[in-house]
Amino acid sequence: VSRFEGITMAPPDPILGVSEAFKADTDEKKLNLGVGAYRTEELQPYVLKVVEKAENLMLERGENKEYLPIEGLAAFNKATAELLFGADNPVIKQQRVATVQSLSGTGSLRLAAALIERYFPGAKVLISSPTWGNHKNIFDDARVPWSEYRYYDPKTVGLDFEGMIADIKDAPEGSFILLHGCAHNPTGIDPNPEQWEKIANVIQKKNHIPFFDVAYQGFASGSLDADAGSVRLFAARGMELLVAQSYSKNLGLYAERIGAINVVCSTADAATRVKSQLKQLARLMYSNPPVHGAKIVANIVSDPALFNDWKAEMEMMAGRIKNVRQKLNDSLSAKDKSGKDWSFILKQIGMFSFTGLSKTQSENMTNKWHVYMTKDGRISLAGLNLAKCEYLADAIVDSYH
Ligand code: PLP
Repeated sequence: VSRFEGITMAPPDPILGVSEAFKADTDEKKLNLGVGAYRTEELQPYVLKVVEKAENLMLERGENKEYLPIEGLAAFNKATAELLFGADNPVIKQQRVATVQSLSGTGSLRLAAALIERYFPGAKVLISSPTWGNHKNIFDDARVPWSEYRYYDPKTVGLDFEGMIADIKDAPEGSFILLHGCAHNPTGIDPNPEQWEKIANVIQKKNHIPFFDVAYQGFASGSLDADAGSVRLFAARGMELLVAQSYSKNLGLYAERIGAINVVCSTADAATRVKSQLKQLARLMYSNPPVHGAKIVANIVSDPALFNDWKAEMEMMAGRIKNVRQKLNDSLSAKDKSGKDWSFILKQIGMFSFTGLSKTQSENMTNKWHVYMTKDGRISLAGLNLAKCEYLADAIVDSYH
């Protein structure tokens, strides 16, 4: 009998489970819209050409694989903060940002959660309802209390702005407010610039600390600057804030685990101390971050030709997703004779679309139509191509009515 007898089976991950079920399906019409990873028009995984170029250069130079410092590659940390805030931003000029390279978006969120747990005992993190499935797990694991603010309005398949503001206002003073910088996952619904201003107003008034999760910079609109607009708007007000960054989607570095946590402080001195504590926490959790992908990012950003290549590929990826978004909307509008307005699909941004399909309707999508998706009604448009839009529209219309 095993000494581990007392360990019960953990529940399967709801998103990774979708891919498992997809693999097991033998129907040739099957479609995997569960994955949060970019696919080509042929629905194949994609390695960015600019990444291949950067890797070839690295091979030619014969770069070594020595350990990085605990805080990561200096050239990466400089590049990542500048991409996020803009190189001329006062927060950078005044050295008020503590940037630590961590294990992509997830690891950066987890490191920040550890900092909150240690230095803000009892402080609550407010997360949007709904949100990316792992947020709750990350804060639970770090023993950081959380609650939700209203975000999605099923009636309009849009933003419940009044509810969001009211809930942020009601949160205990000094709470951390987790915000998706752009391309909200799972809804694809972002506040507009005017709404971001109002969100900043109430956060400032309540002395809350904004905590941005930026997993899609440049991937949402195709522009690195536009997608960082929300974060820069808050930083321009002189607010202290946290930002977790990921290069999984915008540079396709998923498995390389490249990202960073940035803490903007009101003084350079505070930033130095925060960074020292982030390093302390990183050292005991994983010691130091990966070097390969960090060099890829640093090399691309520091070389104007490669940087332009990257921007062009980002526009291409964002453009392909916009095209399927448009085609899906057109197919749905043509096929659905009920008069239902599907144009909310066009208002959403990023890799995902929230269809408004219920759990039962989503199950019909999978069981009858072999369309694999999460049960919250979210579909990943990255897993869709123009050729399959009509089929998907048939499946949605059938499941909806
Ligand atoms: N945050 C959000 C909102 C995401 O959608 C994702 C990935 O899907 C992540 C964070 C983390 O991704 P990674 O850990 O690969 O950077």
